[in-house]
Amino acid sequence: METSSYEDAIAALQNLLSEKSGLGGIAAAKIKQLTADLEAEFNPVEKIKTGFTHFKTEKYEKNPELFGELAKGQSPKFLVFACSDSRVCPSHILNFQPGEAFIVRNIANMVPPFDKTKYSGAGAAIEYAVLHLKVENILVIGHSCCGGIKGLMSLADDGTTASDFIEDWVKICAPAKAKVKAEMDHLALADQHTNLEKEAVNVSLANLLSYPFVREAVAKNTLSLKGGHYDFVQGSFELWNLDFSLTSSITI
Ligand SMILES: [Zn+2]
Repeated sequence: METSSYEDAIAALQNLLSEKSGLGGIAAAKIKQLTADLEAEFNPVEKIKTGFTHFKTEKYEKNPELFGELAKGQSPKFLVFACSDSRVCPSHILNFQPGEAFIVRNIANMVPPFDKTKYSGAGAAIEYAVLHLKVENILVIGHSCCGGIKGLMSLADDGTTASDFIEDWVKICAPAKAKVKAEMDHLALADQHTNLEKEAVNVSLANLLSYPFVREAVAKNTLSLKGGHYDFVQGSFELWNLDFSLTSSITI
């Protein structure tokens, strides 16, 4: 259901809460107990507080020069597209420090094609990174066991969808699925997934070229487009360039 305004959304939430409060006494008590148990085991406020305290004492206060510079501005060399998956944070796996990478994270690390209305969020990030920050590299990182890529692989052929957003989003890389299905149908499903994780990165790299300012910067040689694949099962990282001729990739 779509809500037409913020007020409608609040009203819907209030309805939901009042329905919940109408639950029988036993059910309500059970929910309360469950919530209390969860809170005893995991306190989100404590997690945030101790997390920030750790960062402040171990990083912020120990690097006054770095954070003093960053207070004046940023000039990252990388724009990175990575999956929202909690296991693949680029700052962790590539050791990016504050100020080094401008990062967009979304389901299955996809770059949508230029579309001012449908994909303005991604477009704004790319425009800002390329035109204003003048990043020198755009890196799209796929990863092992990607749920979004599995979702793309299992999309119904007749185009029917069961989700509000996810299936429409991952369809961005449908050309990669078509390629894997056509060329690698003989492989085991897990291997098809791995190949699709990498081919989807290539579709994203091609989609980047649908942005005029990306095309111009690539043509001027001030911007390079790179693909990557992080395998957290093997603990390896594969990196390749997009230059329209086949280049050997390196595995780290
Ligand atoms: Zn993923």
